[in-house]
Amino acid sequence: MEVSHRLKAIPPYVFAEIDKKRQAAVARGVDVINLGIGDPDQPTPRHIVDAMHEALEKPINHHYPPFGGMKEYKEAAAEWCKKRFGITVDPVTEVTSLIGSKEGLHNTIMAFIDRGDVGLIPDPGYPVYQTSILLAGGTPYFMPLKPENNFLPDLDAIPEDICKKAKLILFNYPNNPTAGVADLPFFEKAVAFAKKHDILLCHDLSYSEMTFDGYKAPSILQVHGAKNVAIELHTLSKTYNMTGWRIGFAIGNAQAIKALASLKSNIDTDVFKAIQVAAIAAFTGPTDHIEFCNRLYIERRDIAIKALGELGWTIKPNKATFYMWLPTPKGVTSADFCTQMLDVAGIVVPPGTAYGPNGEGFFRMSLCTDKERLQEAFDRMKKHSITYDMGKARV
Ligand SMILES: *Cc1c(COP(=O)(O)O)cnc(C)c1O
Repeated sequence: MEVSHRLKAIPPYVFAEIDKKRQAAVARGVDVINLGIGDPDQPTPRHIVDAMHEALEKPINHHYPPFGGMKEYKEAAAEWCKKRFGITVDPVTEVTSLIGSKEGLHNTIMAFIDRGDVGLIPDPGYPVYQTSILLAGGTPYFMPLKPENNFLPDLDAIPEDICKKAKLILFNYPNNPTAGVADLPFFEKAVAFAKKHDILLCHDLSYSEMTFDGYKAPSILQVHGAKNVAIELHTLSKTYNMTGWRIGFAIGNAQAIKALASLKSNIDTDVFKAIQVAAIAAFTGPTDHIEFCNRLYIERRDIAIKALGELGWTIKPNKATFYMWLPTPKGVTSADFCTQMLDVAGIVVPPGTAYGPNGEGFFRMSLCTDKERLQEAFDRMKKHSITYDMGKARV
């Protein structure tokens, strides 16, 4: 039996690999602290679970859902966008349902990238961007995200011949893994860039509500004329603690939405209707859990900044996401640092290189663990002298 060249051409899914190492450590009896995953630790809010229970009891919801999502679901999503961002999207032509953003990203890429085409993606970036472009037979072009540019790509630095071969530009703000944020002027520039080169701009807005200290994340569709070139992917995973439910939606350019929905109709049969009903309850229900979770993330972030400060790291508080993107100690590679964190202290953190070549010199820490456990992780680092200066000490 031989698997396809397509599958052979892509690296194994990074987080599946990291999880194997975690499981091996657990099997050795290590009390592992997992600061690797980006999965909210709080439960899905009660009113959403209740709506699901009720919907589950109705046989009408047991049938195949309509392609592209239920009318009521798309209307509720459009209404939510209007309320949240002040943008108008037509629920019939400018909205389509997704089985989460990961699926939406893959199928958007499949709908737009042919063999030989280039996709412009951030480096570091969410691994799916790269692998889906490879699966489509295309070539990823990495746009470096650097601290000195506030983790925004420099669009002017992309060579003209690359722009000519590009079919798609993709990025996500608030950003995973760097926790960087973008404001409207950057989005305006990106829309102008996509227009100039006649390519699709896909914005992955997974963390729109996970923002702190008064910062509010914009939608790319707030840019005048963005709908001519852009789509935006939304997911309920992070906002409503619903990672396991698998539901999201895409909005924006009607032609691109139609292409995405058309490809999807050949592959999947949409989201279980009861889940769509529960998602409507999420869009229309109370939002106090969002503020509650953001306060938790802020509290954990501040504990991390203080504890890591005592270990030698100087950290600027991130304005969004439950990630911290931190430099590895001088002279220590990302891979070596993360191996030591697991082998010496029993802490799982992914190396920056898991997100692309420009992730070298960084590691990501996620704040999806309660503060006691988080503090325990820093206590272990201190005990084992894992400090920002450890590299120098060793030389
Ligand atoms: C979590 C995440 C996703 C995937 O979200 P799902 O809707 O659960 O598939 C997509 N993009 C980024 C940047 C993420 O962090």
